[in-house]
Amino acid sequence: MATAPAPIPRSGPVARALGSPEALALGDLRRAPLRSRPQPSRLDAPITALRGAGPRLSAAAAELHLSTLGDLLLHVPHRYLDRSEIRELAGLRTGEQATVEVEVRSVRVRPTRKRRLRIVEAGVADRSGPMTAIWFNQAWIADRLAPGTRLLLSGKLERDRFRVAEYEFVEGGSGRHTTGIVPVHPAGEGLTPKRIRDWASQVGSLARHAIEPLPAELRARRRLAGAADALAAVHFPEQLGDAERARERLAFEELFLHQAALAARRQGRRARRPGVDLGSPGELVADWLGSLPFELTGDQRAAVEEIDGDLARPEPMQRLLMGEVGSGKTVLALFAMLRAVESGYQAALMAPTETLADQHAATLDRLLAQRPLPFALLTSATPAARRREALARLASGELRVVVGTHALIEPEVAFRGLAVCVVDEQHRFGVEQRAALDAKGPDGAAPHALHMTATPIPRTLSLTAYGDLDATVLHELPAGREPVDTWVVGEEKRAGAYEFIRARLREGRQAYVVCPLVEQRAASERSPGPARWRKLEAKAAAEEAERLRATEFADFEVGLLHGQMPAREKQRAMKGFASGATHVLVATSVIEVGIDVANATVILVEGAERYGLSQLHQLRGRVGRGEHASQCILFADPGSELARRRLSAIEQERDGFRLAEVDLALRGEGEILGTRQHGLPRFRIAELPDDLALLTDARREVIALRDRYGSLEAPELGPLLDAARRRFGDERVIPA
Ligand code: ADP
Ligand code: MG
Repeated sequence: MATAPAPIPRSGPVARALGSPEALALGDLRRAPLRSRPQPSRLDAPITALRGAGPRLSAAAAELHLSTLGDLLLHVPHRYLDRSEIRELAGLRTGEQATVEVEVRSVRVRPTRKRRLRIVEAGVADRSGPMTAIWFNQAWIADRLAPGTRLLLSGKLERDRFRVAEYEFVEGGSGRHTTGIVPVHPAGEGLTPKRIRDWASQVGSLARHAIEPLPAELRARRRLAGAADALAAVHFPEQLGDAERARERLAFEELFLHQAALAARRQGRRARRPGVDLGSPGELVADWLGSLPFELTGDQRAAVEEIDGDLARPEPMQRLLMGEVGSGKTVLALFAMLRAVESGYQAALMAPTETLADQHAATLDRLLAQRPLPFALLTSATPAARRREALARLASGELRVVVGTHALIEPEVAFRGLAVCVVDEQHRFGVEQRAALDAKGPDGAAPHALHMTATPIPRTLSLTAYGDLDATVLHELPAGREPVDTWVVGEEKRAGAYEFIRARLREGRQAYVVCPLVEQRAASERSPGPARWRKLEAKAAAEEAERLRATEFADFEVGLLHGQMPAREKQRAMKGFASGATHVLVATSVIEVGIDVANATVILVEGAERYGLSQLHQLRGRVGRGEHASQCILFADPGSELARRRLSAIEQERDGFRLAEVDLALRGEGEILGTRQHGLPRFRIAELPDDLALLTDARREVIALRDRYGSLEAPELGPLLDAARRRFGDERVIPA
């Protein structure tokens, strides 16, 4: 669906940069190494198609994720310099930034006092008088400045000299670096803003060939400029206001296309593979719900209904269950699994660590108390004979439920009829791993999938990363849970902290001591790779357990848990703590997820400043799980202002979702722990969370269009879906 080329601006810096419209059609392109009339596919040409882009510069561009001309067009300025006024030399004040137009009178190169740098000094003048212009350390410039040369200089008056930041020749120069509103694009190692600006002006002439992906009706209603105009204006705006409007237009388009790609993928997934029909709940499940030792919370009840709704539909469930630590997700997992069992199918629960899988097995035991439902635990620690037996019974269908780790997705594991799979802490698994479990459904059908996470994902991220999943959030904690008192303290409180913990232990409670993360930088000096840090962390934890055993907690049983221990020992450590035989569990961050010992009421975290906010919140969630008041003591050396603000957030904020928003705001989207695993796309223009309003609008518009036309592929919608796939087609999300 071709759209008419957008009009080319006839005046202003865009036109100046591009030449007159007529010249543009021939001239500018004739000079560019683009021989034929550019087609939209021109935008797919590599960066090297530009003048002055050799292998070295295009490698530098690749670092900025710029490989095609189209990429460059979407690489929008992050700020603009207002050089719209040309000033006279005599009117400048010291320290003032300005653009001046001068003639060169004389040139010389001289060393600085330290002799390492060289300075180019040019005597220049305009109507208002003479001045010395200087360039630092660019001696070669001197050769280009013959007396009589006319120059545009942008820079700053330093005392009596004009220090040049950028210069251009009046003859043959475009003025685009020194006059008007000058864009500054994000630059990188070996690639200056000036170079990118020059490139941007070359591809600017291709902007009018950009496909317009937004339906005309939508553009008219939201008063959005055309794609081509917006692209031209964002790179070379006539006024600053134009630039911001254009950026917003393009950010909206980007988010809109991403949402469209997610919606299309979801539609495709549903069309491709049917789910397994599980009907409605029967006696087994109803009975079981009635037998639970507690009342479901309101959020849990709502989730049960949503899951039921999913299971009754012909397409496979793809639901993301986000629940605060301790919000009771396991009951819901079990609910979905039992629905499969009662219809004669099988269910699997996959967890990222052995400890967690063990823990789930124990919970299942407990929650299924009076209902002998055979299930197996399958991890890499499962003895070979037991494993063989379990595999045989899974393949025959005799074994209905299996709980395990990555061991579940190995090729030898086959099911007779896997109808429900639950993935706990789903972001800890790779896309392929989740897909491998998904592929184990009965001939051609996809199992219903429930993806669980206790890492709260702020709305901004969940809409982008998981826009194609249904989401359920458990905000409410089971009744009777008290908020965990949280204290961030320094070394001076150490003796007091141990005394406090001993007092709780004497009351019969238990405690965790979590050792610091090994600082990756320090560790990597000796050896790269996470295996090494984990070893160091394990060693530190073992030493700390030893120390506490001998000193502070000499009167108590101290256990040790870290990721490097053999599975058997880990199990023993967990059992000892769960049964109350050990009073204090010294651990690395392996206890972050899933461990559930209601009698543990104090958690002490060492080196808290090294942990992410979400991680600290997870750790804190290990306590406050029972009837007793609980405390979280964070030993921290804040160091930076940022660390101080993050620690004060964890001290004051109890809601994990709000904490995640704070984390996002403080650290920026890319930095959040696990963001990469969440499959977040890299947006070129949109900035999250700042553009959240645009994102929610874009999502609403996509859903409205899909509902109106039945599909995003409707001819009325033009090239929308093509454009979406081109932009985000290879983005990886949850199992397709
Ligand atoms: P998480 O969401 O962190 O995985 P769990 O499913 O492990 O939480 O639940 C934490 C604890 O709360 C478990 O011991 C579980 O049995 C218990 N629990 C779950 N739902 C309720 C409820 N509605 N009322 C009381 N306790 C509950
Ligand atoms: Mg859990």
